[in-house]
Amino acid sequence: MLDAILAQAASHPTSAAAGLPSELQTFVVNLVYLIAAACFIFGLKFLASPKKARRGNTIASCGMAMAVIATFFDARIMAGGAKGLTTALLGLIVGGGIGSFVALRVSMRGMPQMVSLLNGFGGLAAGMVGFGEYLRETFVLAHVPGVDVRISVAMSLVIGMITFTGSLVAWAKLEELKVKVAGMPLSGVVMFPAHRIMSLVAGALILVLVLSLIGSEKAALLAVLILVIAAGYGLLFVLPIGGADMPVVIALLNSFSGLGAAATGFVLHNNALIIGGSLVGAAGLILTLIMCSAMNRSLLNVLAGGFGTASADAGGATATTTHTGTVRKMDAEEAAIVIDASQNVIIIPGYGMAVAQAQHAVAELMGVLQKKGINVKFAVHPVAGRMPGHMNVLLAEANVPYELLADLEINPEFSQCDVALVIGANDVVNPAARHDKASPIYGMPIFDCDKARTVMVCKRSLNPGFAGIENELFYLPNTVMVLGDAKAVVAAICKALKEA
Ligand code: NDP
Repeated sequence: MLDAILAQAASHPTSAAAGLPSELQTFVVNLVYLIAAACFIFGLKFLASPKKARRGNTIASCGMAMAVIATFFDARIMAGGAKGLTTALLGLIVGGGIGSFVALRVSMRGMPQMVSLLNGFGGLAAGMVGFGEYLRETFVLAHVPGVDVRISVAMSLVIGMITFTGSLVAWAKLEELKVKVAGMPLSGVVMFPAHRIMSLVAGALILVLVLSLIGSEKAALLAVLILVIAAGYGLLFVLPIGGADMPVVIALLNSFSGLGAAATGFVLHNNALIIGGSLVGAAGLILTLIMCSAMNRSLLNVLAGGFGTASADAGGATATTTHTGTVRKMDAEEAAIVIDASQNVIIIPGYGMAVAQAQHAVAELMGVLQKKGINVKFAVHPVAGRMPGHMNVLLAEANVPYELLADLEINPEFSQCDVALVIGANDVVNPAARHDKASPIYGMPIFDCDKARTVMVCKRSLNPGFAGIENELFYLPNTVMVLGDAKAVVAAICKALKEA
């Protein structure tokens, strides 16, 4: 095949900028894209294992760097001469600069919000590139775009803009912005009057406009209308989602951003975008399904776009709480005495550990317990924290060995566990999920830590977690609350254990 290309290339004009025959240039660019795609696939594969995740990240990043460099040698960019190259370089410097600046400054607590923003801007880029390419083909090149291009443009516009506005709302909800929309706190469930009807009408309009765009030869106005209505649909889609359903949305929007990029790849005939986008789309969808089962939601329910209302009705993220029952409390020193006398300890980290940045103190506690011959394991719930893998990343940062981490499969071990130490987790240990049909988290698999001999809950107050519901675990006879900031409490327990 290479011989054929080289032979053809020999008789072809050379690309002025690279000094290469243009077919050879295209071949080399596509070859680099192929290698980049292989890097993405191996990167993703490695990312599935905590042990190899760093290597996976490096491999995928190298693939992306190769794809970006190869794009500078794309015949169409080179055809633009110095102006084309400068524009592309400027985009790289400004976009890459902002991305690096934000990524270097973001804390693990802000990571889910950043992922949301990255999804959103990926979607915006897909929408804008699709729109720009449609205008370029119809008005600058003055020819009728083929049906394949029109389908791809329509997909980039719809998926890109829904992802953009949907992700902005998801970001604002995760950031817990103290903003009210239609009189309701944005971080909870926000529904306009006739919200579902508006969503249905917007969806139907988008469908009609997309079909019209595909059927028309020149329809810039239709493209503008799709942009605007899809952006509105993205808002309607995410606004009603509140409380404990957010992880599914984040994973789904991540998948959308990949699909948007893949559609843009078809518009631009860029293989790296098509493969990379499809991988993100598929990986995001698989993650969505995993999150659905972890949150006890069906995908259909998610796609219907109106979920989260149950949380509101049943006192979800916006609910107020009443503290009832008897609560037993201990200070860190007393907790250390109980822990010191145990054989098996299971630590259950949650969002509070991320807030307190307590992962290093927790790792130190693990070391102290192991030195005393106490078995320590970590129970990490798939939706603990504010993004999939949130706890795993924090514990890995503190060098907690991966082998000690288990997810829901650890549940049978709680009955043999002396102390279940809950550090900043709340919803993922709420027994109401098992039996209270009225609870918004009913059916969500949780850690059965209430079955441990002693449950120690370290948090600052009796306040509810993300789902906004009272946690009956705090009032059980085998539960003691060790109230305070997770980092300070865990450090104090460590100190007391060392002195014991
Ligand atoms: P929760 O959000 O349910 O609870 C966290 C608890 O941490 C709070 O009750 C809070 O109590 C406590 N806390 C906060 N700051 C501190 C601190 N400095 N020190 C000690 N404790 C602190 O956490 P979970 O991890 O149990 O559950 C995650 C929830 O988030 C689930 O409902 C899940 O569905 C949802 N979610 C998950 C996402 C994911 O992908 N993982 C994404 C979005 C949402 P207090 O104020 O009393 O200290």
